[in-house]
Amino acid sequence: MTLVFDVRTLFYVGSLTALACALMLWQSRGLHAPSAAALRWAAASQLMFGAAMAWISLRGAIPDLLSYQLANTVGGAAAAVAYESVRRLVGARPLPWLTAVATAGLLAVNLALGDDPARLAARLHLNAAVHAVFAAAAVPLLLGRLRQGDDAPRPLRWATGFMVAFAIAHLFRMAVTAKSGALVSMTGMVEGPLQMLMPAVFALAPMAYAMILLGLVNGRLSAELWRLATIDTLTGLRTRRSFIDEARRALSDEGRPVLLMLDLDRFKQINDRHGHASGDRVLARFARLLREVSPQAALVGRYGGEEFCLLLPDASPDDGQAHAQRLCDAVRRIDHGLSAPVTVSIGLASGSDGGTLEELLLAADRRLYRAKATGRDRVVATDGPLSPDTVPLPLLEPGTAPTGSPAVQDHSASVQTQ
Ligand code: GH3
Ligand code: MG
Ligand code: MG
Repeated sequence: MTLVFDVRTLFYVGSLTALACALMLWQSRGLHAPSAAALRWAAASQLMFGAAMAWISLRGAIPDLLSYQLANTVGGAAAAVAYESVRRLVGARPLPWLTAVATAGLLAVNLALGDDPARLAARLHLNAAVHAVFAAAAVPLLLGRLRQGDDAPRPLRWATGFMVAFAIAHLFRMAVTAKSGALVSMTGMVEGPLQMLMPAVFALAPMAYAMILLGLVNGRLSAELWRLATIDTLTGLRTRRSFIDEARRALSDEGRPVLLMLDLDRFKQINDRHGHASGDRVLARFARLLREVSPQAALVGRYGGEEFCLLLPDASPDDGQAHAQRLCDAVRRIDHGLSAPVTVSIGLASGSDGGTLEELLLAADRRLYRAKATGRDRVVATDGPLSPDTVPLPLLEPGTAPTGSPAVQDHSASVQTQ
């Protein structure tokens, strides 16, 4: 099969594709703050690429200066701008002066080459070389980012592959032109399998790159959203919502669950006396202790402001209680550099309190408030008579730590662990 196409039509199609992609990238720039600059530079690059192709397609109908010298300058500079977009995408130091220098250099060379049709091959070589060099220069940057780790490694790998293919395609173009000179006539028809590189380079590349870029930015955005929804920024622990989701999953497995509800004692006073920043440091240090001291299988979450939950999916009540006591003692020993040690009160619930998360939370909450009511800095694992108006805890209301049940006020309970 022989493929035949008209170069001018190809440039029209390429130009429209690049301009449409520029628009798409430009209007997506607000998607994800860290990648917004990359999208702006990529949109500018596509816009320049599209404009250059439009001017080349209009050769003869517009001034030669625009359709020869300036078209080749802007087309080449688009490669430098695309390279700058990659630098921003991978978090490398911006080098905008490089774009300025490349543009000035290209302008000088293109003006020197003039609009002599006999020099079309030279212009083409120059343009292809510039694209190949900038695409190749982007590859180590992308590979470096991949090694560092990225939230969207797959589109990043695609972007790397794209740049490699783009550089190779331009080198091929140079080789084909040098050998056969087949592409030197703007009005001519192009045929042959190697010439199929032309639509790949001019019409499909802008679209492919825009898709990869948007995939990459979307991948990063959804990873960040996921992180925000599941990891508490201050403590690095699971958020309330993530804790509840994971705890439900863990409870559906066979095992003897133990749930601890922990609340720092008189935390408001720490804020009032030492400032909010000190309070934040105490929270972060306490969270680190929870992670360090608890077994691998434990689920730890920040349930509310200074209230935390810890689920041991398979532990005997005695082991759970021993662990809670260890935590309680360890917290007291931390030196926060404050006027008084920080302590924690802990309510403990286990499988005998029920099999659902709601039942465990309710029991642990009741006992936590018994621990508060009976002196703080202690673990309470059992409770006295239940108050009849005890209500189940709302599980998913953000920012609302469960409040103590009326049983808190009931000082008749006698079974405590301290
Ligand atoms: P109790 O021993 O009865 O638990 O007393 P408390 O002072 O610890 O409890 P209270 O509920 O009165 O106060 C909790 C305080 O925790 C109030 C709130 O300002 C503070 N807090 C909640 N979240 C944060 C946070 O992220 N950072 C800081 N610094 N303080 C927080
Ligand atoms: Mg408290
Ligand atoms: Mg509290």
